[in-house]
Amino acid sequence: MQDKPDITPPPLRNDCFALPAGVDWTPVDDALTTLRQRLTPVTGVQEVQVADAEGLVLAQDVQALRSNPPLPNTAVDGYGFARGRPDGAHVLPLIQGRAAAGLPFEGKVPDGSALRVLTGAALPDGVDTVILEEDVKVQDGHIAFRGPLKTGANTRKAGEDLCQGALALPRQRRLTPADLALLSAVGVASVPVRTKLRVAILSTGDELVDPGQTAGPGQIYDANRPMLLSLMRRMGFAPVDMGRVPDDRDALRQRLNQVAERADAIVTSGGASAGDEDHVSALLRQAGAMQEWRIALKPGRPLALGMWDGTPVFGLPGNPVAALVCTLIFARPALGLMAGEGWCEPQAFQVPAAFEKRKKPGRREYLRARIRDGRAEVFHSEGSGRISGLSWAEGLVEIEDGARHIQPGDPVRFIPFASFWP
Ligand code: AMP
Ligand code: MG
Repeated sequence: MQDKPDITPPPLRNDCFALPAGVDWTPVDDALTTLRQRLTPVTGVQEVQVADAEGLVLAQDVQALRSNPPLPNTAVDGYGFARGRPDGAHVLPLIQGRAAAGLPFEGKVPDGSALRVLTGAALPDGVDTVILEEDVKVQDGHIAFRGPLKTGANTRKAGEDLCQGALALPRQRRLTPADLALLSAVGVASVPVRTKLRVAILSTGDELVDPGQTAGPGQIYDANRPMLLSLMRRMGFAPVDMGRVPDDRDALRQRLNQVAERADAIVTSGGASAGDEDHVSALLRQAGAMQEWRIALKPGRPLALGMWDGTPVFGLPGNPVAALVCTLIFARPALGLMAGEGWCEPQAFQVPAAFEKRKKPGRREYLRARIRDGRAEVFHSEGSGRISGLSWAEGLVEIEDGARHIQPGDPVRFIPFASFWP
């Protein structure tokens, strides 16, 4: 038997999975604060029809051009007259005619008389109160009903929803279907919006092949690119597919040069650490505009952030789980700022845990999770290569930076994936 070389393995420390002493790991919140302070909108502004504006970001505050409702009107089908009535029985003569939505009653309703009114009709002169038709008996040209009925009952005031000139929607708002209703209701036909942020997606790694190709031994399919492209689309950005490049510095440099012309931001996956084949970080470092972000985060460190010819690059780790988490936690709010929508915080919920977990202090953790029966379940494995767990999950459980021993029933912070996009 050949003699083994006399190499002493490095001593295993008790806390070998704890963070290295003396190394500055940036807490997640500090990293986010930095992004928030440094990034500003980069997209242009264009005017679009309201009907085409869903999912786009308002570039300016939008004021109501008209009050909603424009005139006082009736909220129900019934009978209108002046002033409320006290307790007891009341009989009022009905006058000829009616007021309907879009078909106002032109005359004046004499004091003490009532008029047939239909939902949405502008209140005629002499009417400020409406009784519901179900509460009325009509006979011999009169209506009879029981009080009490307050003055103004069953009516809507002009502008009670929104007054002309009031702020309808603020700049930075990503427009929802309901926003299109609001804008239309207050007379706004077109709005100034930001052009979509173009985000280039690029995979790196010698081992990658595209789905559909033959994969040799040791090769794997590029799983990140379709995921990241679709994430960008969901978040309201315009994804630009820049394919994949091998672990080759010249090829990567060329591709980054092409990308920088076609995109407002570049998101790469793989090659972001400080290893021999980590060319994204190496190139960015060479370009002199690279921040290696050693973030106290699991899964996901490190992240290479840099500028390539003026275009921000988010160098994500290659692990699909880490790539997704880093995209949601860092790239999403950063890109949102660049897209002009301000700083977006995902909506999180406190829910009881359906699991037990001990966590050491030092870094924030994100677990693949979903809610069942009102409790947060986590995926059975924390392995960051387990893509099936990403697909299983419907959100993330976020565990704070400090130590924690979570027991079933304890409150945990759950962030649905859907909180990360509009
Ligand atoms: P890296 O960050 O380049 O060191 O890659 C970390 C791990 O993620 C390695 O196991 C890679 O093979 C894997 N990986 C990198 N890029 C991708 C990708 N696009 N799809 C799936 N796995 C990837
Ligand atoms: Mg790699």
